[in-house]
Amino acid sequence: MRFGLLPAVLVATASAIEIGLDTAFDFTPLIIFHAATSAATWAAGPIAGSVTALLGLLIGERWFFANPLFVEPTGRAVVQAVTYTVAASAIVIGLTVLRGALQRAARGTRRAERLASRVRRRNAEVRRATRRYRALNEVAAGLLPAVTRAQIRDLVLGPGATAADSTAAILIVRDGDRIEVSAGGECPPDLADEVARSDLLAGVLLEGGSQWVGPEALSTNLAERLPCDLWAVLPLSARDRRIGALLLGYELERGATEADRTIAELLAQQCAQALDRSRLYQEERRLRIEAQFGERRLGFLALASAALAATLDTSRSLAEVADLSAANLGGFCAIHLVEDDGEIRLAAGTQTTEAGPARFGGEADRFALAVDATLGYPAVLARGQPQLIAEVDPDRLAAAARSPEHVPRLHGLGLQSMICVPLIVRDTVVGAITVASIEAGRRLGTAEQTLLEHVARRVAQAVDAARLYHTAVQASRAKSSFLAVMSHELRTPLNAILGYADLMLLGVPAQVPEEARHQVDRIRSSATHLLELVEDILSFARADSGQDTVRLENVYLEDVVIEAIGMVEPFARRKKLVLRRDVPADLQLSSDRAKLLRILQNLLSNATKFTLAGEVAVEARLDGEWIAVDVKDTGIGIPAEHRERIFDPFWQVEQTPARRFGGTGIGLGVARQLARLLGGDLTVESELEVGSTFSLVLPRVAGESTVAE
Ligand code: ADP
Repeated sequence: MRFGLLPAVLVATASAIEIGLDTAFDFTPLIIFHAATSAATWAAGPIAGSVTALLGLLIGERWFFANPLFVEPTGRAVVQAVTYTVAASAIVIGLTVLRGALQRAARGTRRAERLASRVRRRNAEVRRATRRYRALNEVAAGLLPAVTRAQIRDLVLGPGATAADSTAAILIVRDGDRIEVSAGGECPPDLADEVARSDLLAGVLLEGGSQWVGPEALSTNLAERLPCDLWAVLPLSARDRRIGALLLGYELERGATEADRTIAELLAQQCAQALDRSRLYQEERRLRIEAQFGERRLGFLALASAALAATLDTSRSLAEVADLSAANLGGFCAIHLVEDDGEIRLAAGTQTTEAGPARFGGEADRFALAVDATLGYPAVLARGQPQLIAEVDPDRLAAAARSPEHVPRLHGLGLQSMICVPLIVRDTVVGAITVASIEAGRRLGTAEQTLLEHVARRVAQAVDAARLYHTAVQASRAKSSFLAVMSHELRTPLNAILGYADLMLLGVPAQVPEEARHQVDRIRSSATHLLELVEDILSFARADSGQDTVRLENVYLEDVVIEAIGMVEPFARRKKLVLRRDVPADLQLSSDRAKLLRILQNLLSNATKFTLAGEVAVEARLDGEWIAVDVKDTGIGIPAEHRERIFDPFWQVEQTPARRFGGTGIGLGVARQLARLLGGDLTVESELEVGSTFSLVLPRVAGESTVAE
């Protein structure tokens, strides 16, 4: 300011001197001179100002000064010239200084503006980066709970790509040998597929790091069809395994910034981690489901097998299997069997309700399909092939109904998904088992079909076993009643033969000549033997057909033993065997005397038959409430492997036709049957070539329960 005033003071002083010197002062030249000098200095700088002032002095000399300086250099003229020069110099210097100051100020302002705009730009960049990082954070937070690949794909290609500021995105995931390609943003799917097949991608999917490339590097089509001019190719790796690649397309002519690169890398990293987590989760879930299913499946099969094995009564076991199948396989199960006459009958049916399993086995109408239906058990029975209907079409079900009246009932079952498997026995379809899901949205699949096929195999075997058993029981009953009738019919003529033989031996009506007595004796003993056989067969047949009756009476055991021994005595004597008995005389029991006698008779007859030398003994004792009778011999003995089988009817140790000992193989079977009928049992102990002991145990008082009606 101080320096700024100096030129003004100088100009003012010089002008005052000038005015003072000239009495008739003309202001015009003064003003023109100063104005010209000022204008030149301001416009073009100090040199131009100085030149203008000098030229003004030289040109305007006559006009400015009363006495021109160079013509008559008077003192006044010199003073005038000096004052003009000083004033001009002051103007030049002053204006030059002022101009310089103004220029510097302008430059400063411009620099400040530049700085301010740079700060603004930086601020905007920081705000944008913050926004993008925040968006990326949100994507990361969303990816954390994502468990399916679709969730991850939607997040990465949607908000993820937006956070990265890219306009197109492609996600390539390798799943074993398969490659799954998804496109996002402006990228059409066909273009994404083409990119995924490019050589660059094939390389990146194997190894290598991130690359920022132009569109041509990926596909020629890409450059034409998308406005992106820069692509980030980012490999996706998890635990040292390459699992795919993420491609982000940018419209960035300027190239990618540090933030672009960082965000793209972070997004790829998060995407890879999420994919890995999802793979692990799915794998773990698959294993868990498999384990659960396997466990449930084993439990279900075990229960079904147990139910089928528990009884030969199929109406009970099939109802239980239907309950189990309904509970495990969707809520509905029906088992149909083909009867001998070809009729199809509902054997069991269960529908799970909120209150538990509800059986409708007796209500065949509930699930009645037309014989020629193309769906369900009629079709499966006809073709012998399983049928899996993932989604039951109500119209198709209605078409399969037995009659229009059945349609509402069928629809009422609410069958959503259905599997029907044939029950096959020795290449014959004997029935079908149907399960269906009645929960909306639950579909049955091949896993359930396999499980049902296992159940069907077991059910078919059980049905077959029950049918075979039924047939066998019927055949056995028929045989027993035939034997009972035949034996009964044989007994009458045999008794007649015995009676007449006795009469002849007694000499009625006349004495038999001595020479013929022997033959009559033989007739009698053969008839007795035959009668015993017939008695055995009759007892066996009666017991087997459940027609035997027990008549209780008080019996002295010794009496019965003596009578039995008496029967085998002649034979034993012939073989020179010792017959011994050790039975307490007071040993009494309440039992069926005839049956007890038959048991002892059979045991003694065997003992004498299979003993070549030595003795046969009967020993009895009281053992609490039981009476034990042992029939011992010193005979050939019974091999260990035959000891149980000898009680089977018609079974003998010697199976060859050239047997040393006669017999029918029925005696022991009858003896054991009778022993059990009397409430006791018959067992054997034996040693080969040493002898056998048959132990009969009977209750001292046969219980009411042992008495057959
Ligand atoms: P059977 O005597 O008419 O052949 P059983 O049912 O009485 O029929 O006997 C079955 C088989 O048991 C006999 O064939 C014989 O092989 C064997 N057995 C029975 N009792 C004896 C015994 N005391 N000693 C040796 N073997 C015996």
